[in-house]
Amino acid sequence: MTIINNSKTDPNKILPFQYPWAREYYKSGVANNWTPEEVSMQKDVEQWKSQTALSDTERRLILWNLGFFSTAESLTANNIVLSVYNHVTNPEARQYLLRQAFEEAIHTDTFIYCCDSLGLDPEDIYNMYKTIPSIDEKDSFVVELTKSVFDPSFSTEGPENIRRFVRDLIGFYVIMEGIFFYAGFAMILALRRQNKMVGIGEQFEYIMRDESLHLAFGCDLINTIKAENPEIWDKEFKDEVVDLIRQAVVLEQRYAHDACPQGLLGINAEKFSQYVEYVADRRLERLNLPKVYNTENPFPWMSQATDLSKEKNFFETRVTEYQTGASLDWD
Ligand code: FE
Ligand code: MN
Repeated sequence: MTIINNSKTDPNKILPFQYPWAREYYKSGVANNWTPEEVSMQKDVEQWKSQTALSDTERRLILWNLGFFSTAESLTANNIVLSVYNHVTNPEARQYLLRQAFEEAIHTDTFIYCCDSLGLDPEDIYNMYKTIPSIDEKDSFVVELTKSVFDPSFSTEGPENIRRFVRDLIGFYVIMEGIFFYAGFAMILALRRQNKMVGIGEQFEYIMRDESLHLAFGCDLINTIKAENPEIWDKEFKDEVVDLIRQAVVLEQRYAHDACPQGLLGINAEKFSQYVEYVADRRLERLNLPKVYNTENPFPWMSQATDLSKEKNFFETRVTEYQTGASLDWD
């Protein structure tokens, strides 16, 4: 049995596990459980309403990121439910996909909660994927890349179709969740380091922890399909993947400049751009492709495994601590 191209509707027997790594991702996902309401937004609301707590640059950056993420989360959710689950037939991999889909629902809920708390106009935030060109370009790039897989008559029979499906997986797991989310993560966490919008900061930390698992699962899934269908991974396809990642880096850098044109707290858009290159190299390595940029990590604090469950309870009103030791290695 392989991870794709078996019966899609058999009541699949999950035991014995054929891909124990997929089972591990499921358990890690469950161990990381959280909900947005556990995070207090009180300080954020005060800062957002105050005339002086945030600069225009900081406000722009927050709006851009809420605008991008609020709709990007639903694109990934659609892809899992409408495409990936349909074509990945192995039961333990599907069990993880169900967990991932739930996490995307939690992320969607986070942006509803943020909009509500700050009193933002949903029309503005949820239309930014249309009104802000650098957001539109990122979403359109992924959607365009994965279009043929959404055709209801699409099947993963034969090398060309398997390649198409792997292109879809790279589009969502590696480019959307693995590159297009990361300038935004870095911006919001940079703000948080200055004690600004700490509620949103903490929520982004939780989202980033979830996304790092999604990305890692996606890479293992892609690498498994490659190993089981080695004929698809030829030079032409590898070159195409590297080219797609280069194009994605350009779009993410454009977004970083657009969301943060004046720089922030001594960090300029150039630094965010370097960070995107550093992240892209790590994604290429994960797919066993050569690095392109060799850029150093300008934000070592982004890769420190921060333990979310420590040193919070005394001063903040956290309801529960679900975390029971899942992976905290974030990028
Ligand atoms: Fe998500
Ligand atoms: Mn995700």
